[in-house]
Amino acid sequence: MRKVFCAFCGKHEDEVETIVSGQIPEAHICDTCVERAHEFIKEEHAQHKEVAIDMKKIRKEEVTPDVLKTYLDQYVVDQEIAKRALCVAVYNHYKRLFVTQYPQTSDDEVEIEKSNVFLVGPTGVGKTLLASTIAKRLKVPFCSVSMTQMTQAGYVGDDVESALSGLLQAADGNIQAAQMGIVYMDEADKVARKGDNPSLTRDVGGEGVQQALLKIIEGGIVNVPPHGGRKHPEQKLIPMDTTNILFIFGGAFEGIDRLIERRLHMRPLGFDLKKTNLPLLQGQDLGAYVSAQDLKAYGLIPELVGRIPVITHLSPLDKNALYKVLTEPKNALIKQYKKLMGMEGIALSFTEDALGYIVQKALELKVGARGLRSICEAIMQDAMFDLPSAKNVKKYTIDKDYAQKKFEGSRMANLKAA
Ligand code: ADP
Repeated sequence: MRKVFCAFCGKHEDEVETIVSGQIPEAHICDTCVERAHEFIKEEHAQHKEVAIDMKKIRKEEVTPDVLKTYLDQYVVDQEIAKRALCVAVYNHYKRLFVTQYPQTSDDEVEIEKSNVFLVGPTGVGKTLLASTIAKRLKVPFCSVSMTQMTQAGYVGDDVESALSGLLQAADGNIQAAQMGIVYMDEADKVARKGDNPSLTRDVGGEGVQQALLKIIEGGIVNVPPHGGRKHPEQKLIPMDTTNILFIFGGAFEGIDRLIERRLHMRPLGFDLKKTNLPLLQGQDLGAYVSAQDLKAYGLIPELVGRIPVITHLSPLDKNALYKVLTEPKNALIKQYKKLMGMEGIALSFTEDALGYIVQKALELKVGARGLRSICEAIMQDAMFDLPSAKNVKKYTIDKDYAQKKFEGSRMANLKAA
């Protein structure tokens, strides 16, 4: 009997699952080698692909701050201060990348610094949403990483470089595209230095991480593990230039208002409090006054804060804002349910008091905008199950009684208000 071997790995056909034979004698390849070759070709293509970065095709008129903000307004409710700051930062970042589009300044020696951004605000108010929406508009790769798992190199946890692995994966391995992407670093407050006293245990998850981050965000070549995680010796590292990557940091920084208050109340001796406007700040959300000084007081190292020049703030979402989140954005939850039912030929509607009930529950349970979906799911579950096979239903209305009955019968109702 003729012996058939894979011409690549040398295995006999009995040792492999499938073997493919070519036109000429001895031209055989096994399934494993086909797969390996395919992987290899995919990687090569990704590395050498033409720089197909859509951002390069964007004209500067398309990314001016007002144009970007109009786009953000379609997806993100309120947060005007943060939106304006982010749009200006992104526009400046864009100008920095494509300075040659501005012939009047291209030959002077002023170098524009990177405009990395800090978004400070409670959880679930739109920080990640802002960062991902702006990346969508610019059509650049985007990834969001939580800083809680990061530790200083050599300790258990992810190396800071793994933040860039996510970007490379978001860019399908296209290194040039990844090098112009946006990274959202979530929970930046979790790497704050733990107190000023050097403790016996090393602060490997705090200051160590901040130090390690410096070299990534200031711009330069960083060796990135393509599949994330720790740097394994067997993993081929990919050199990545971070000069044009925009870093957006986010964090709740719980308790920072006390630091802000302390700073705002620091005044020269003999300064008459009555003559200042400080009492006017009472009852206001002090987060709006956050500054680099407060972030340093919270435990971020000055070198890191110095590399994130734009600091802005997002406010908690009140009743009105939650109502808007539910109904207004382009992909608002209510619009999505209506669309899903519309596809069944059913006109779905919600009464105003049903919507009010959903918002009220989100406030009571303190689950914020993120919890709106779970509340809606609890209410809509039965209708979504039954309506697709219901006969002759052309209209369906969710009123407050229905919403309340369904919500109270759901597991979510067992959650007690915090
Ligand atoms: P965080 O501030 O913790 O990063 P996210 O941006 O992840 O919060 O928000 C969680 C979800 O809540 C979003 O996916 C979105 O559905 C909703 N959401 C939060 N804030 C807003 C907002 N300002 N406008 C519209 N939707 C919002």
